[in-house]
Amino acid sequence: MFDIDADPLGWEEVVEETIRNRLQLNSIYGQDWYETKFKLVRTQPDRFTEWKIENGELFYYRPDYEKAIIDDEHPWKKVVKPDDVLTILRENHDTPQAGHLGKDKTYDRVRQSYYWPGISQDVKTYVQDCEICTKVKYNQNPLKGPLMTRPLQQSWAQLSIDTVVSQTRTKKGNSNVVVVQELYTKYIELFPIRHRTGKLIAKVLDTVFDR
Ligand SMILES: [Zn+2]
Repeated sequence: MFDIDADPLGWEEVVEETIRNRLQLNSIYGQDWYETKFKLVRTQPDRFTEWKIENGELFYYRPDYEKAIIDDEHPWKKVVKPDDVLTILRENHDTPQAGHLGKDKTYDRVRQSYYWPGISQDVKTYVQDCEICTKVKYNQNPLKGPLMTRPLQQSWAQLSIDTVVSQTRTKKGNSNVVVVQELYTKYIELFPIRHRTGKLIAKVLDTVFDR
């Protein structure tokens, strides 16, 4: 991904706030959940044997017995503060390394290292709300109708171009994304832009066709 234009957007905070409010840790357990737990574990360690504090950070003993991972080498999971949940979700879903995996795989990835109350539901909600995933899934399962009766014979014969608002911002602050999909190979490329204007989208297409 690269940036076409790059100034931070004010309304992105609104988008971020909306996502935050939909997460369980924020909506049900509340902002002071972490502080409260931390204090309890520090003052009554004998009562909370599955919790520990190390280098000023809270950990929870939660080995992965389920699924294929029988011997979890790292059963102590770092407990995530409410403010950091969104960052962890992004790192484990939106980044190129994470690759927008589905909810189960994203959850497996997150729980290998982290814990917070409502973690499973939060991952599910986050992945379900991911606009890029929604668009891509739609494009990969086109409705069977008269429009699709002509099968594609070669690549680059037909492109699908769409714009979405990503849950992640690029370093330069862009969260509008042009999703270009080559319909024969299903190859997808993402181009962050500042505004969804015809001019910027045309610039993206120039880049695509100039290669
Ligand atoms: Zn996604």
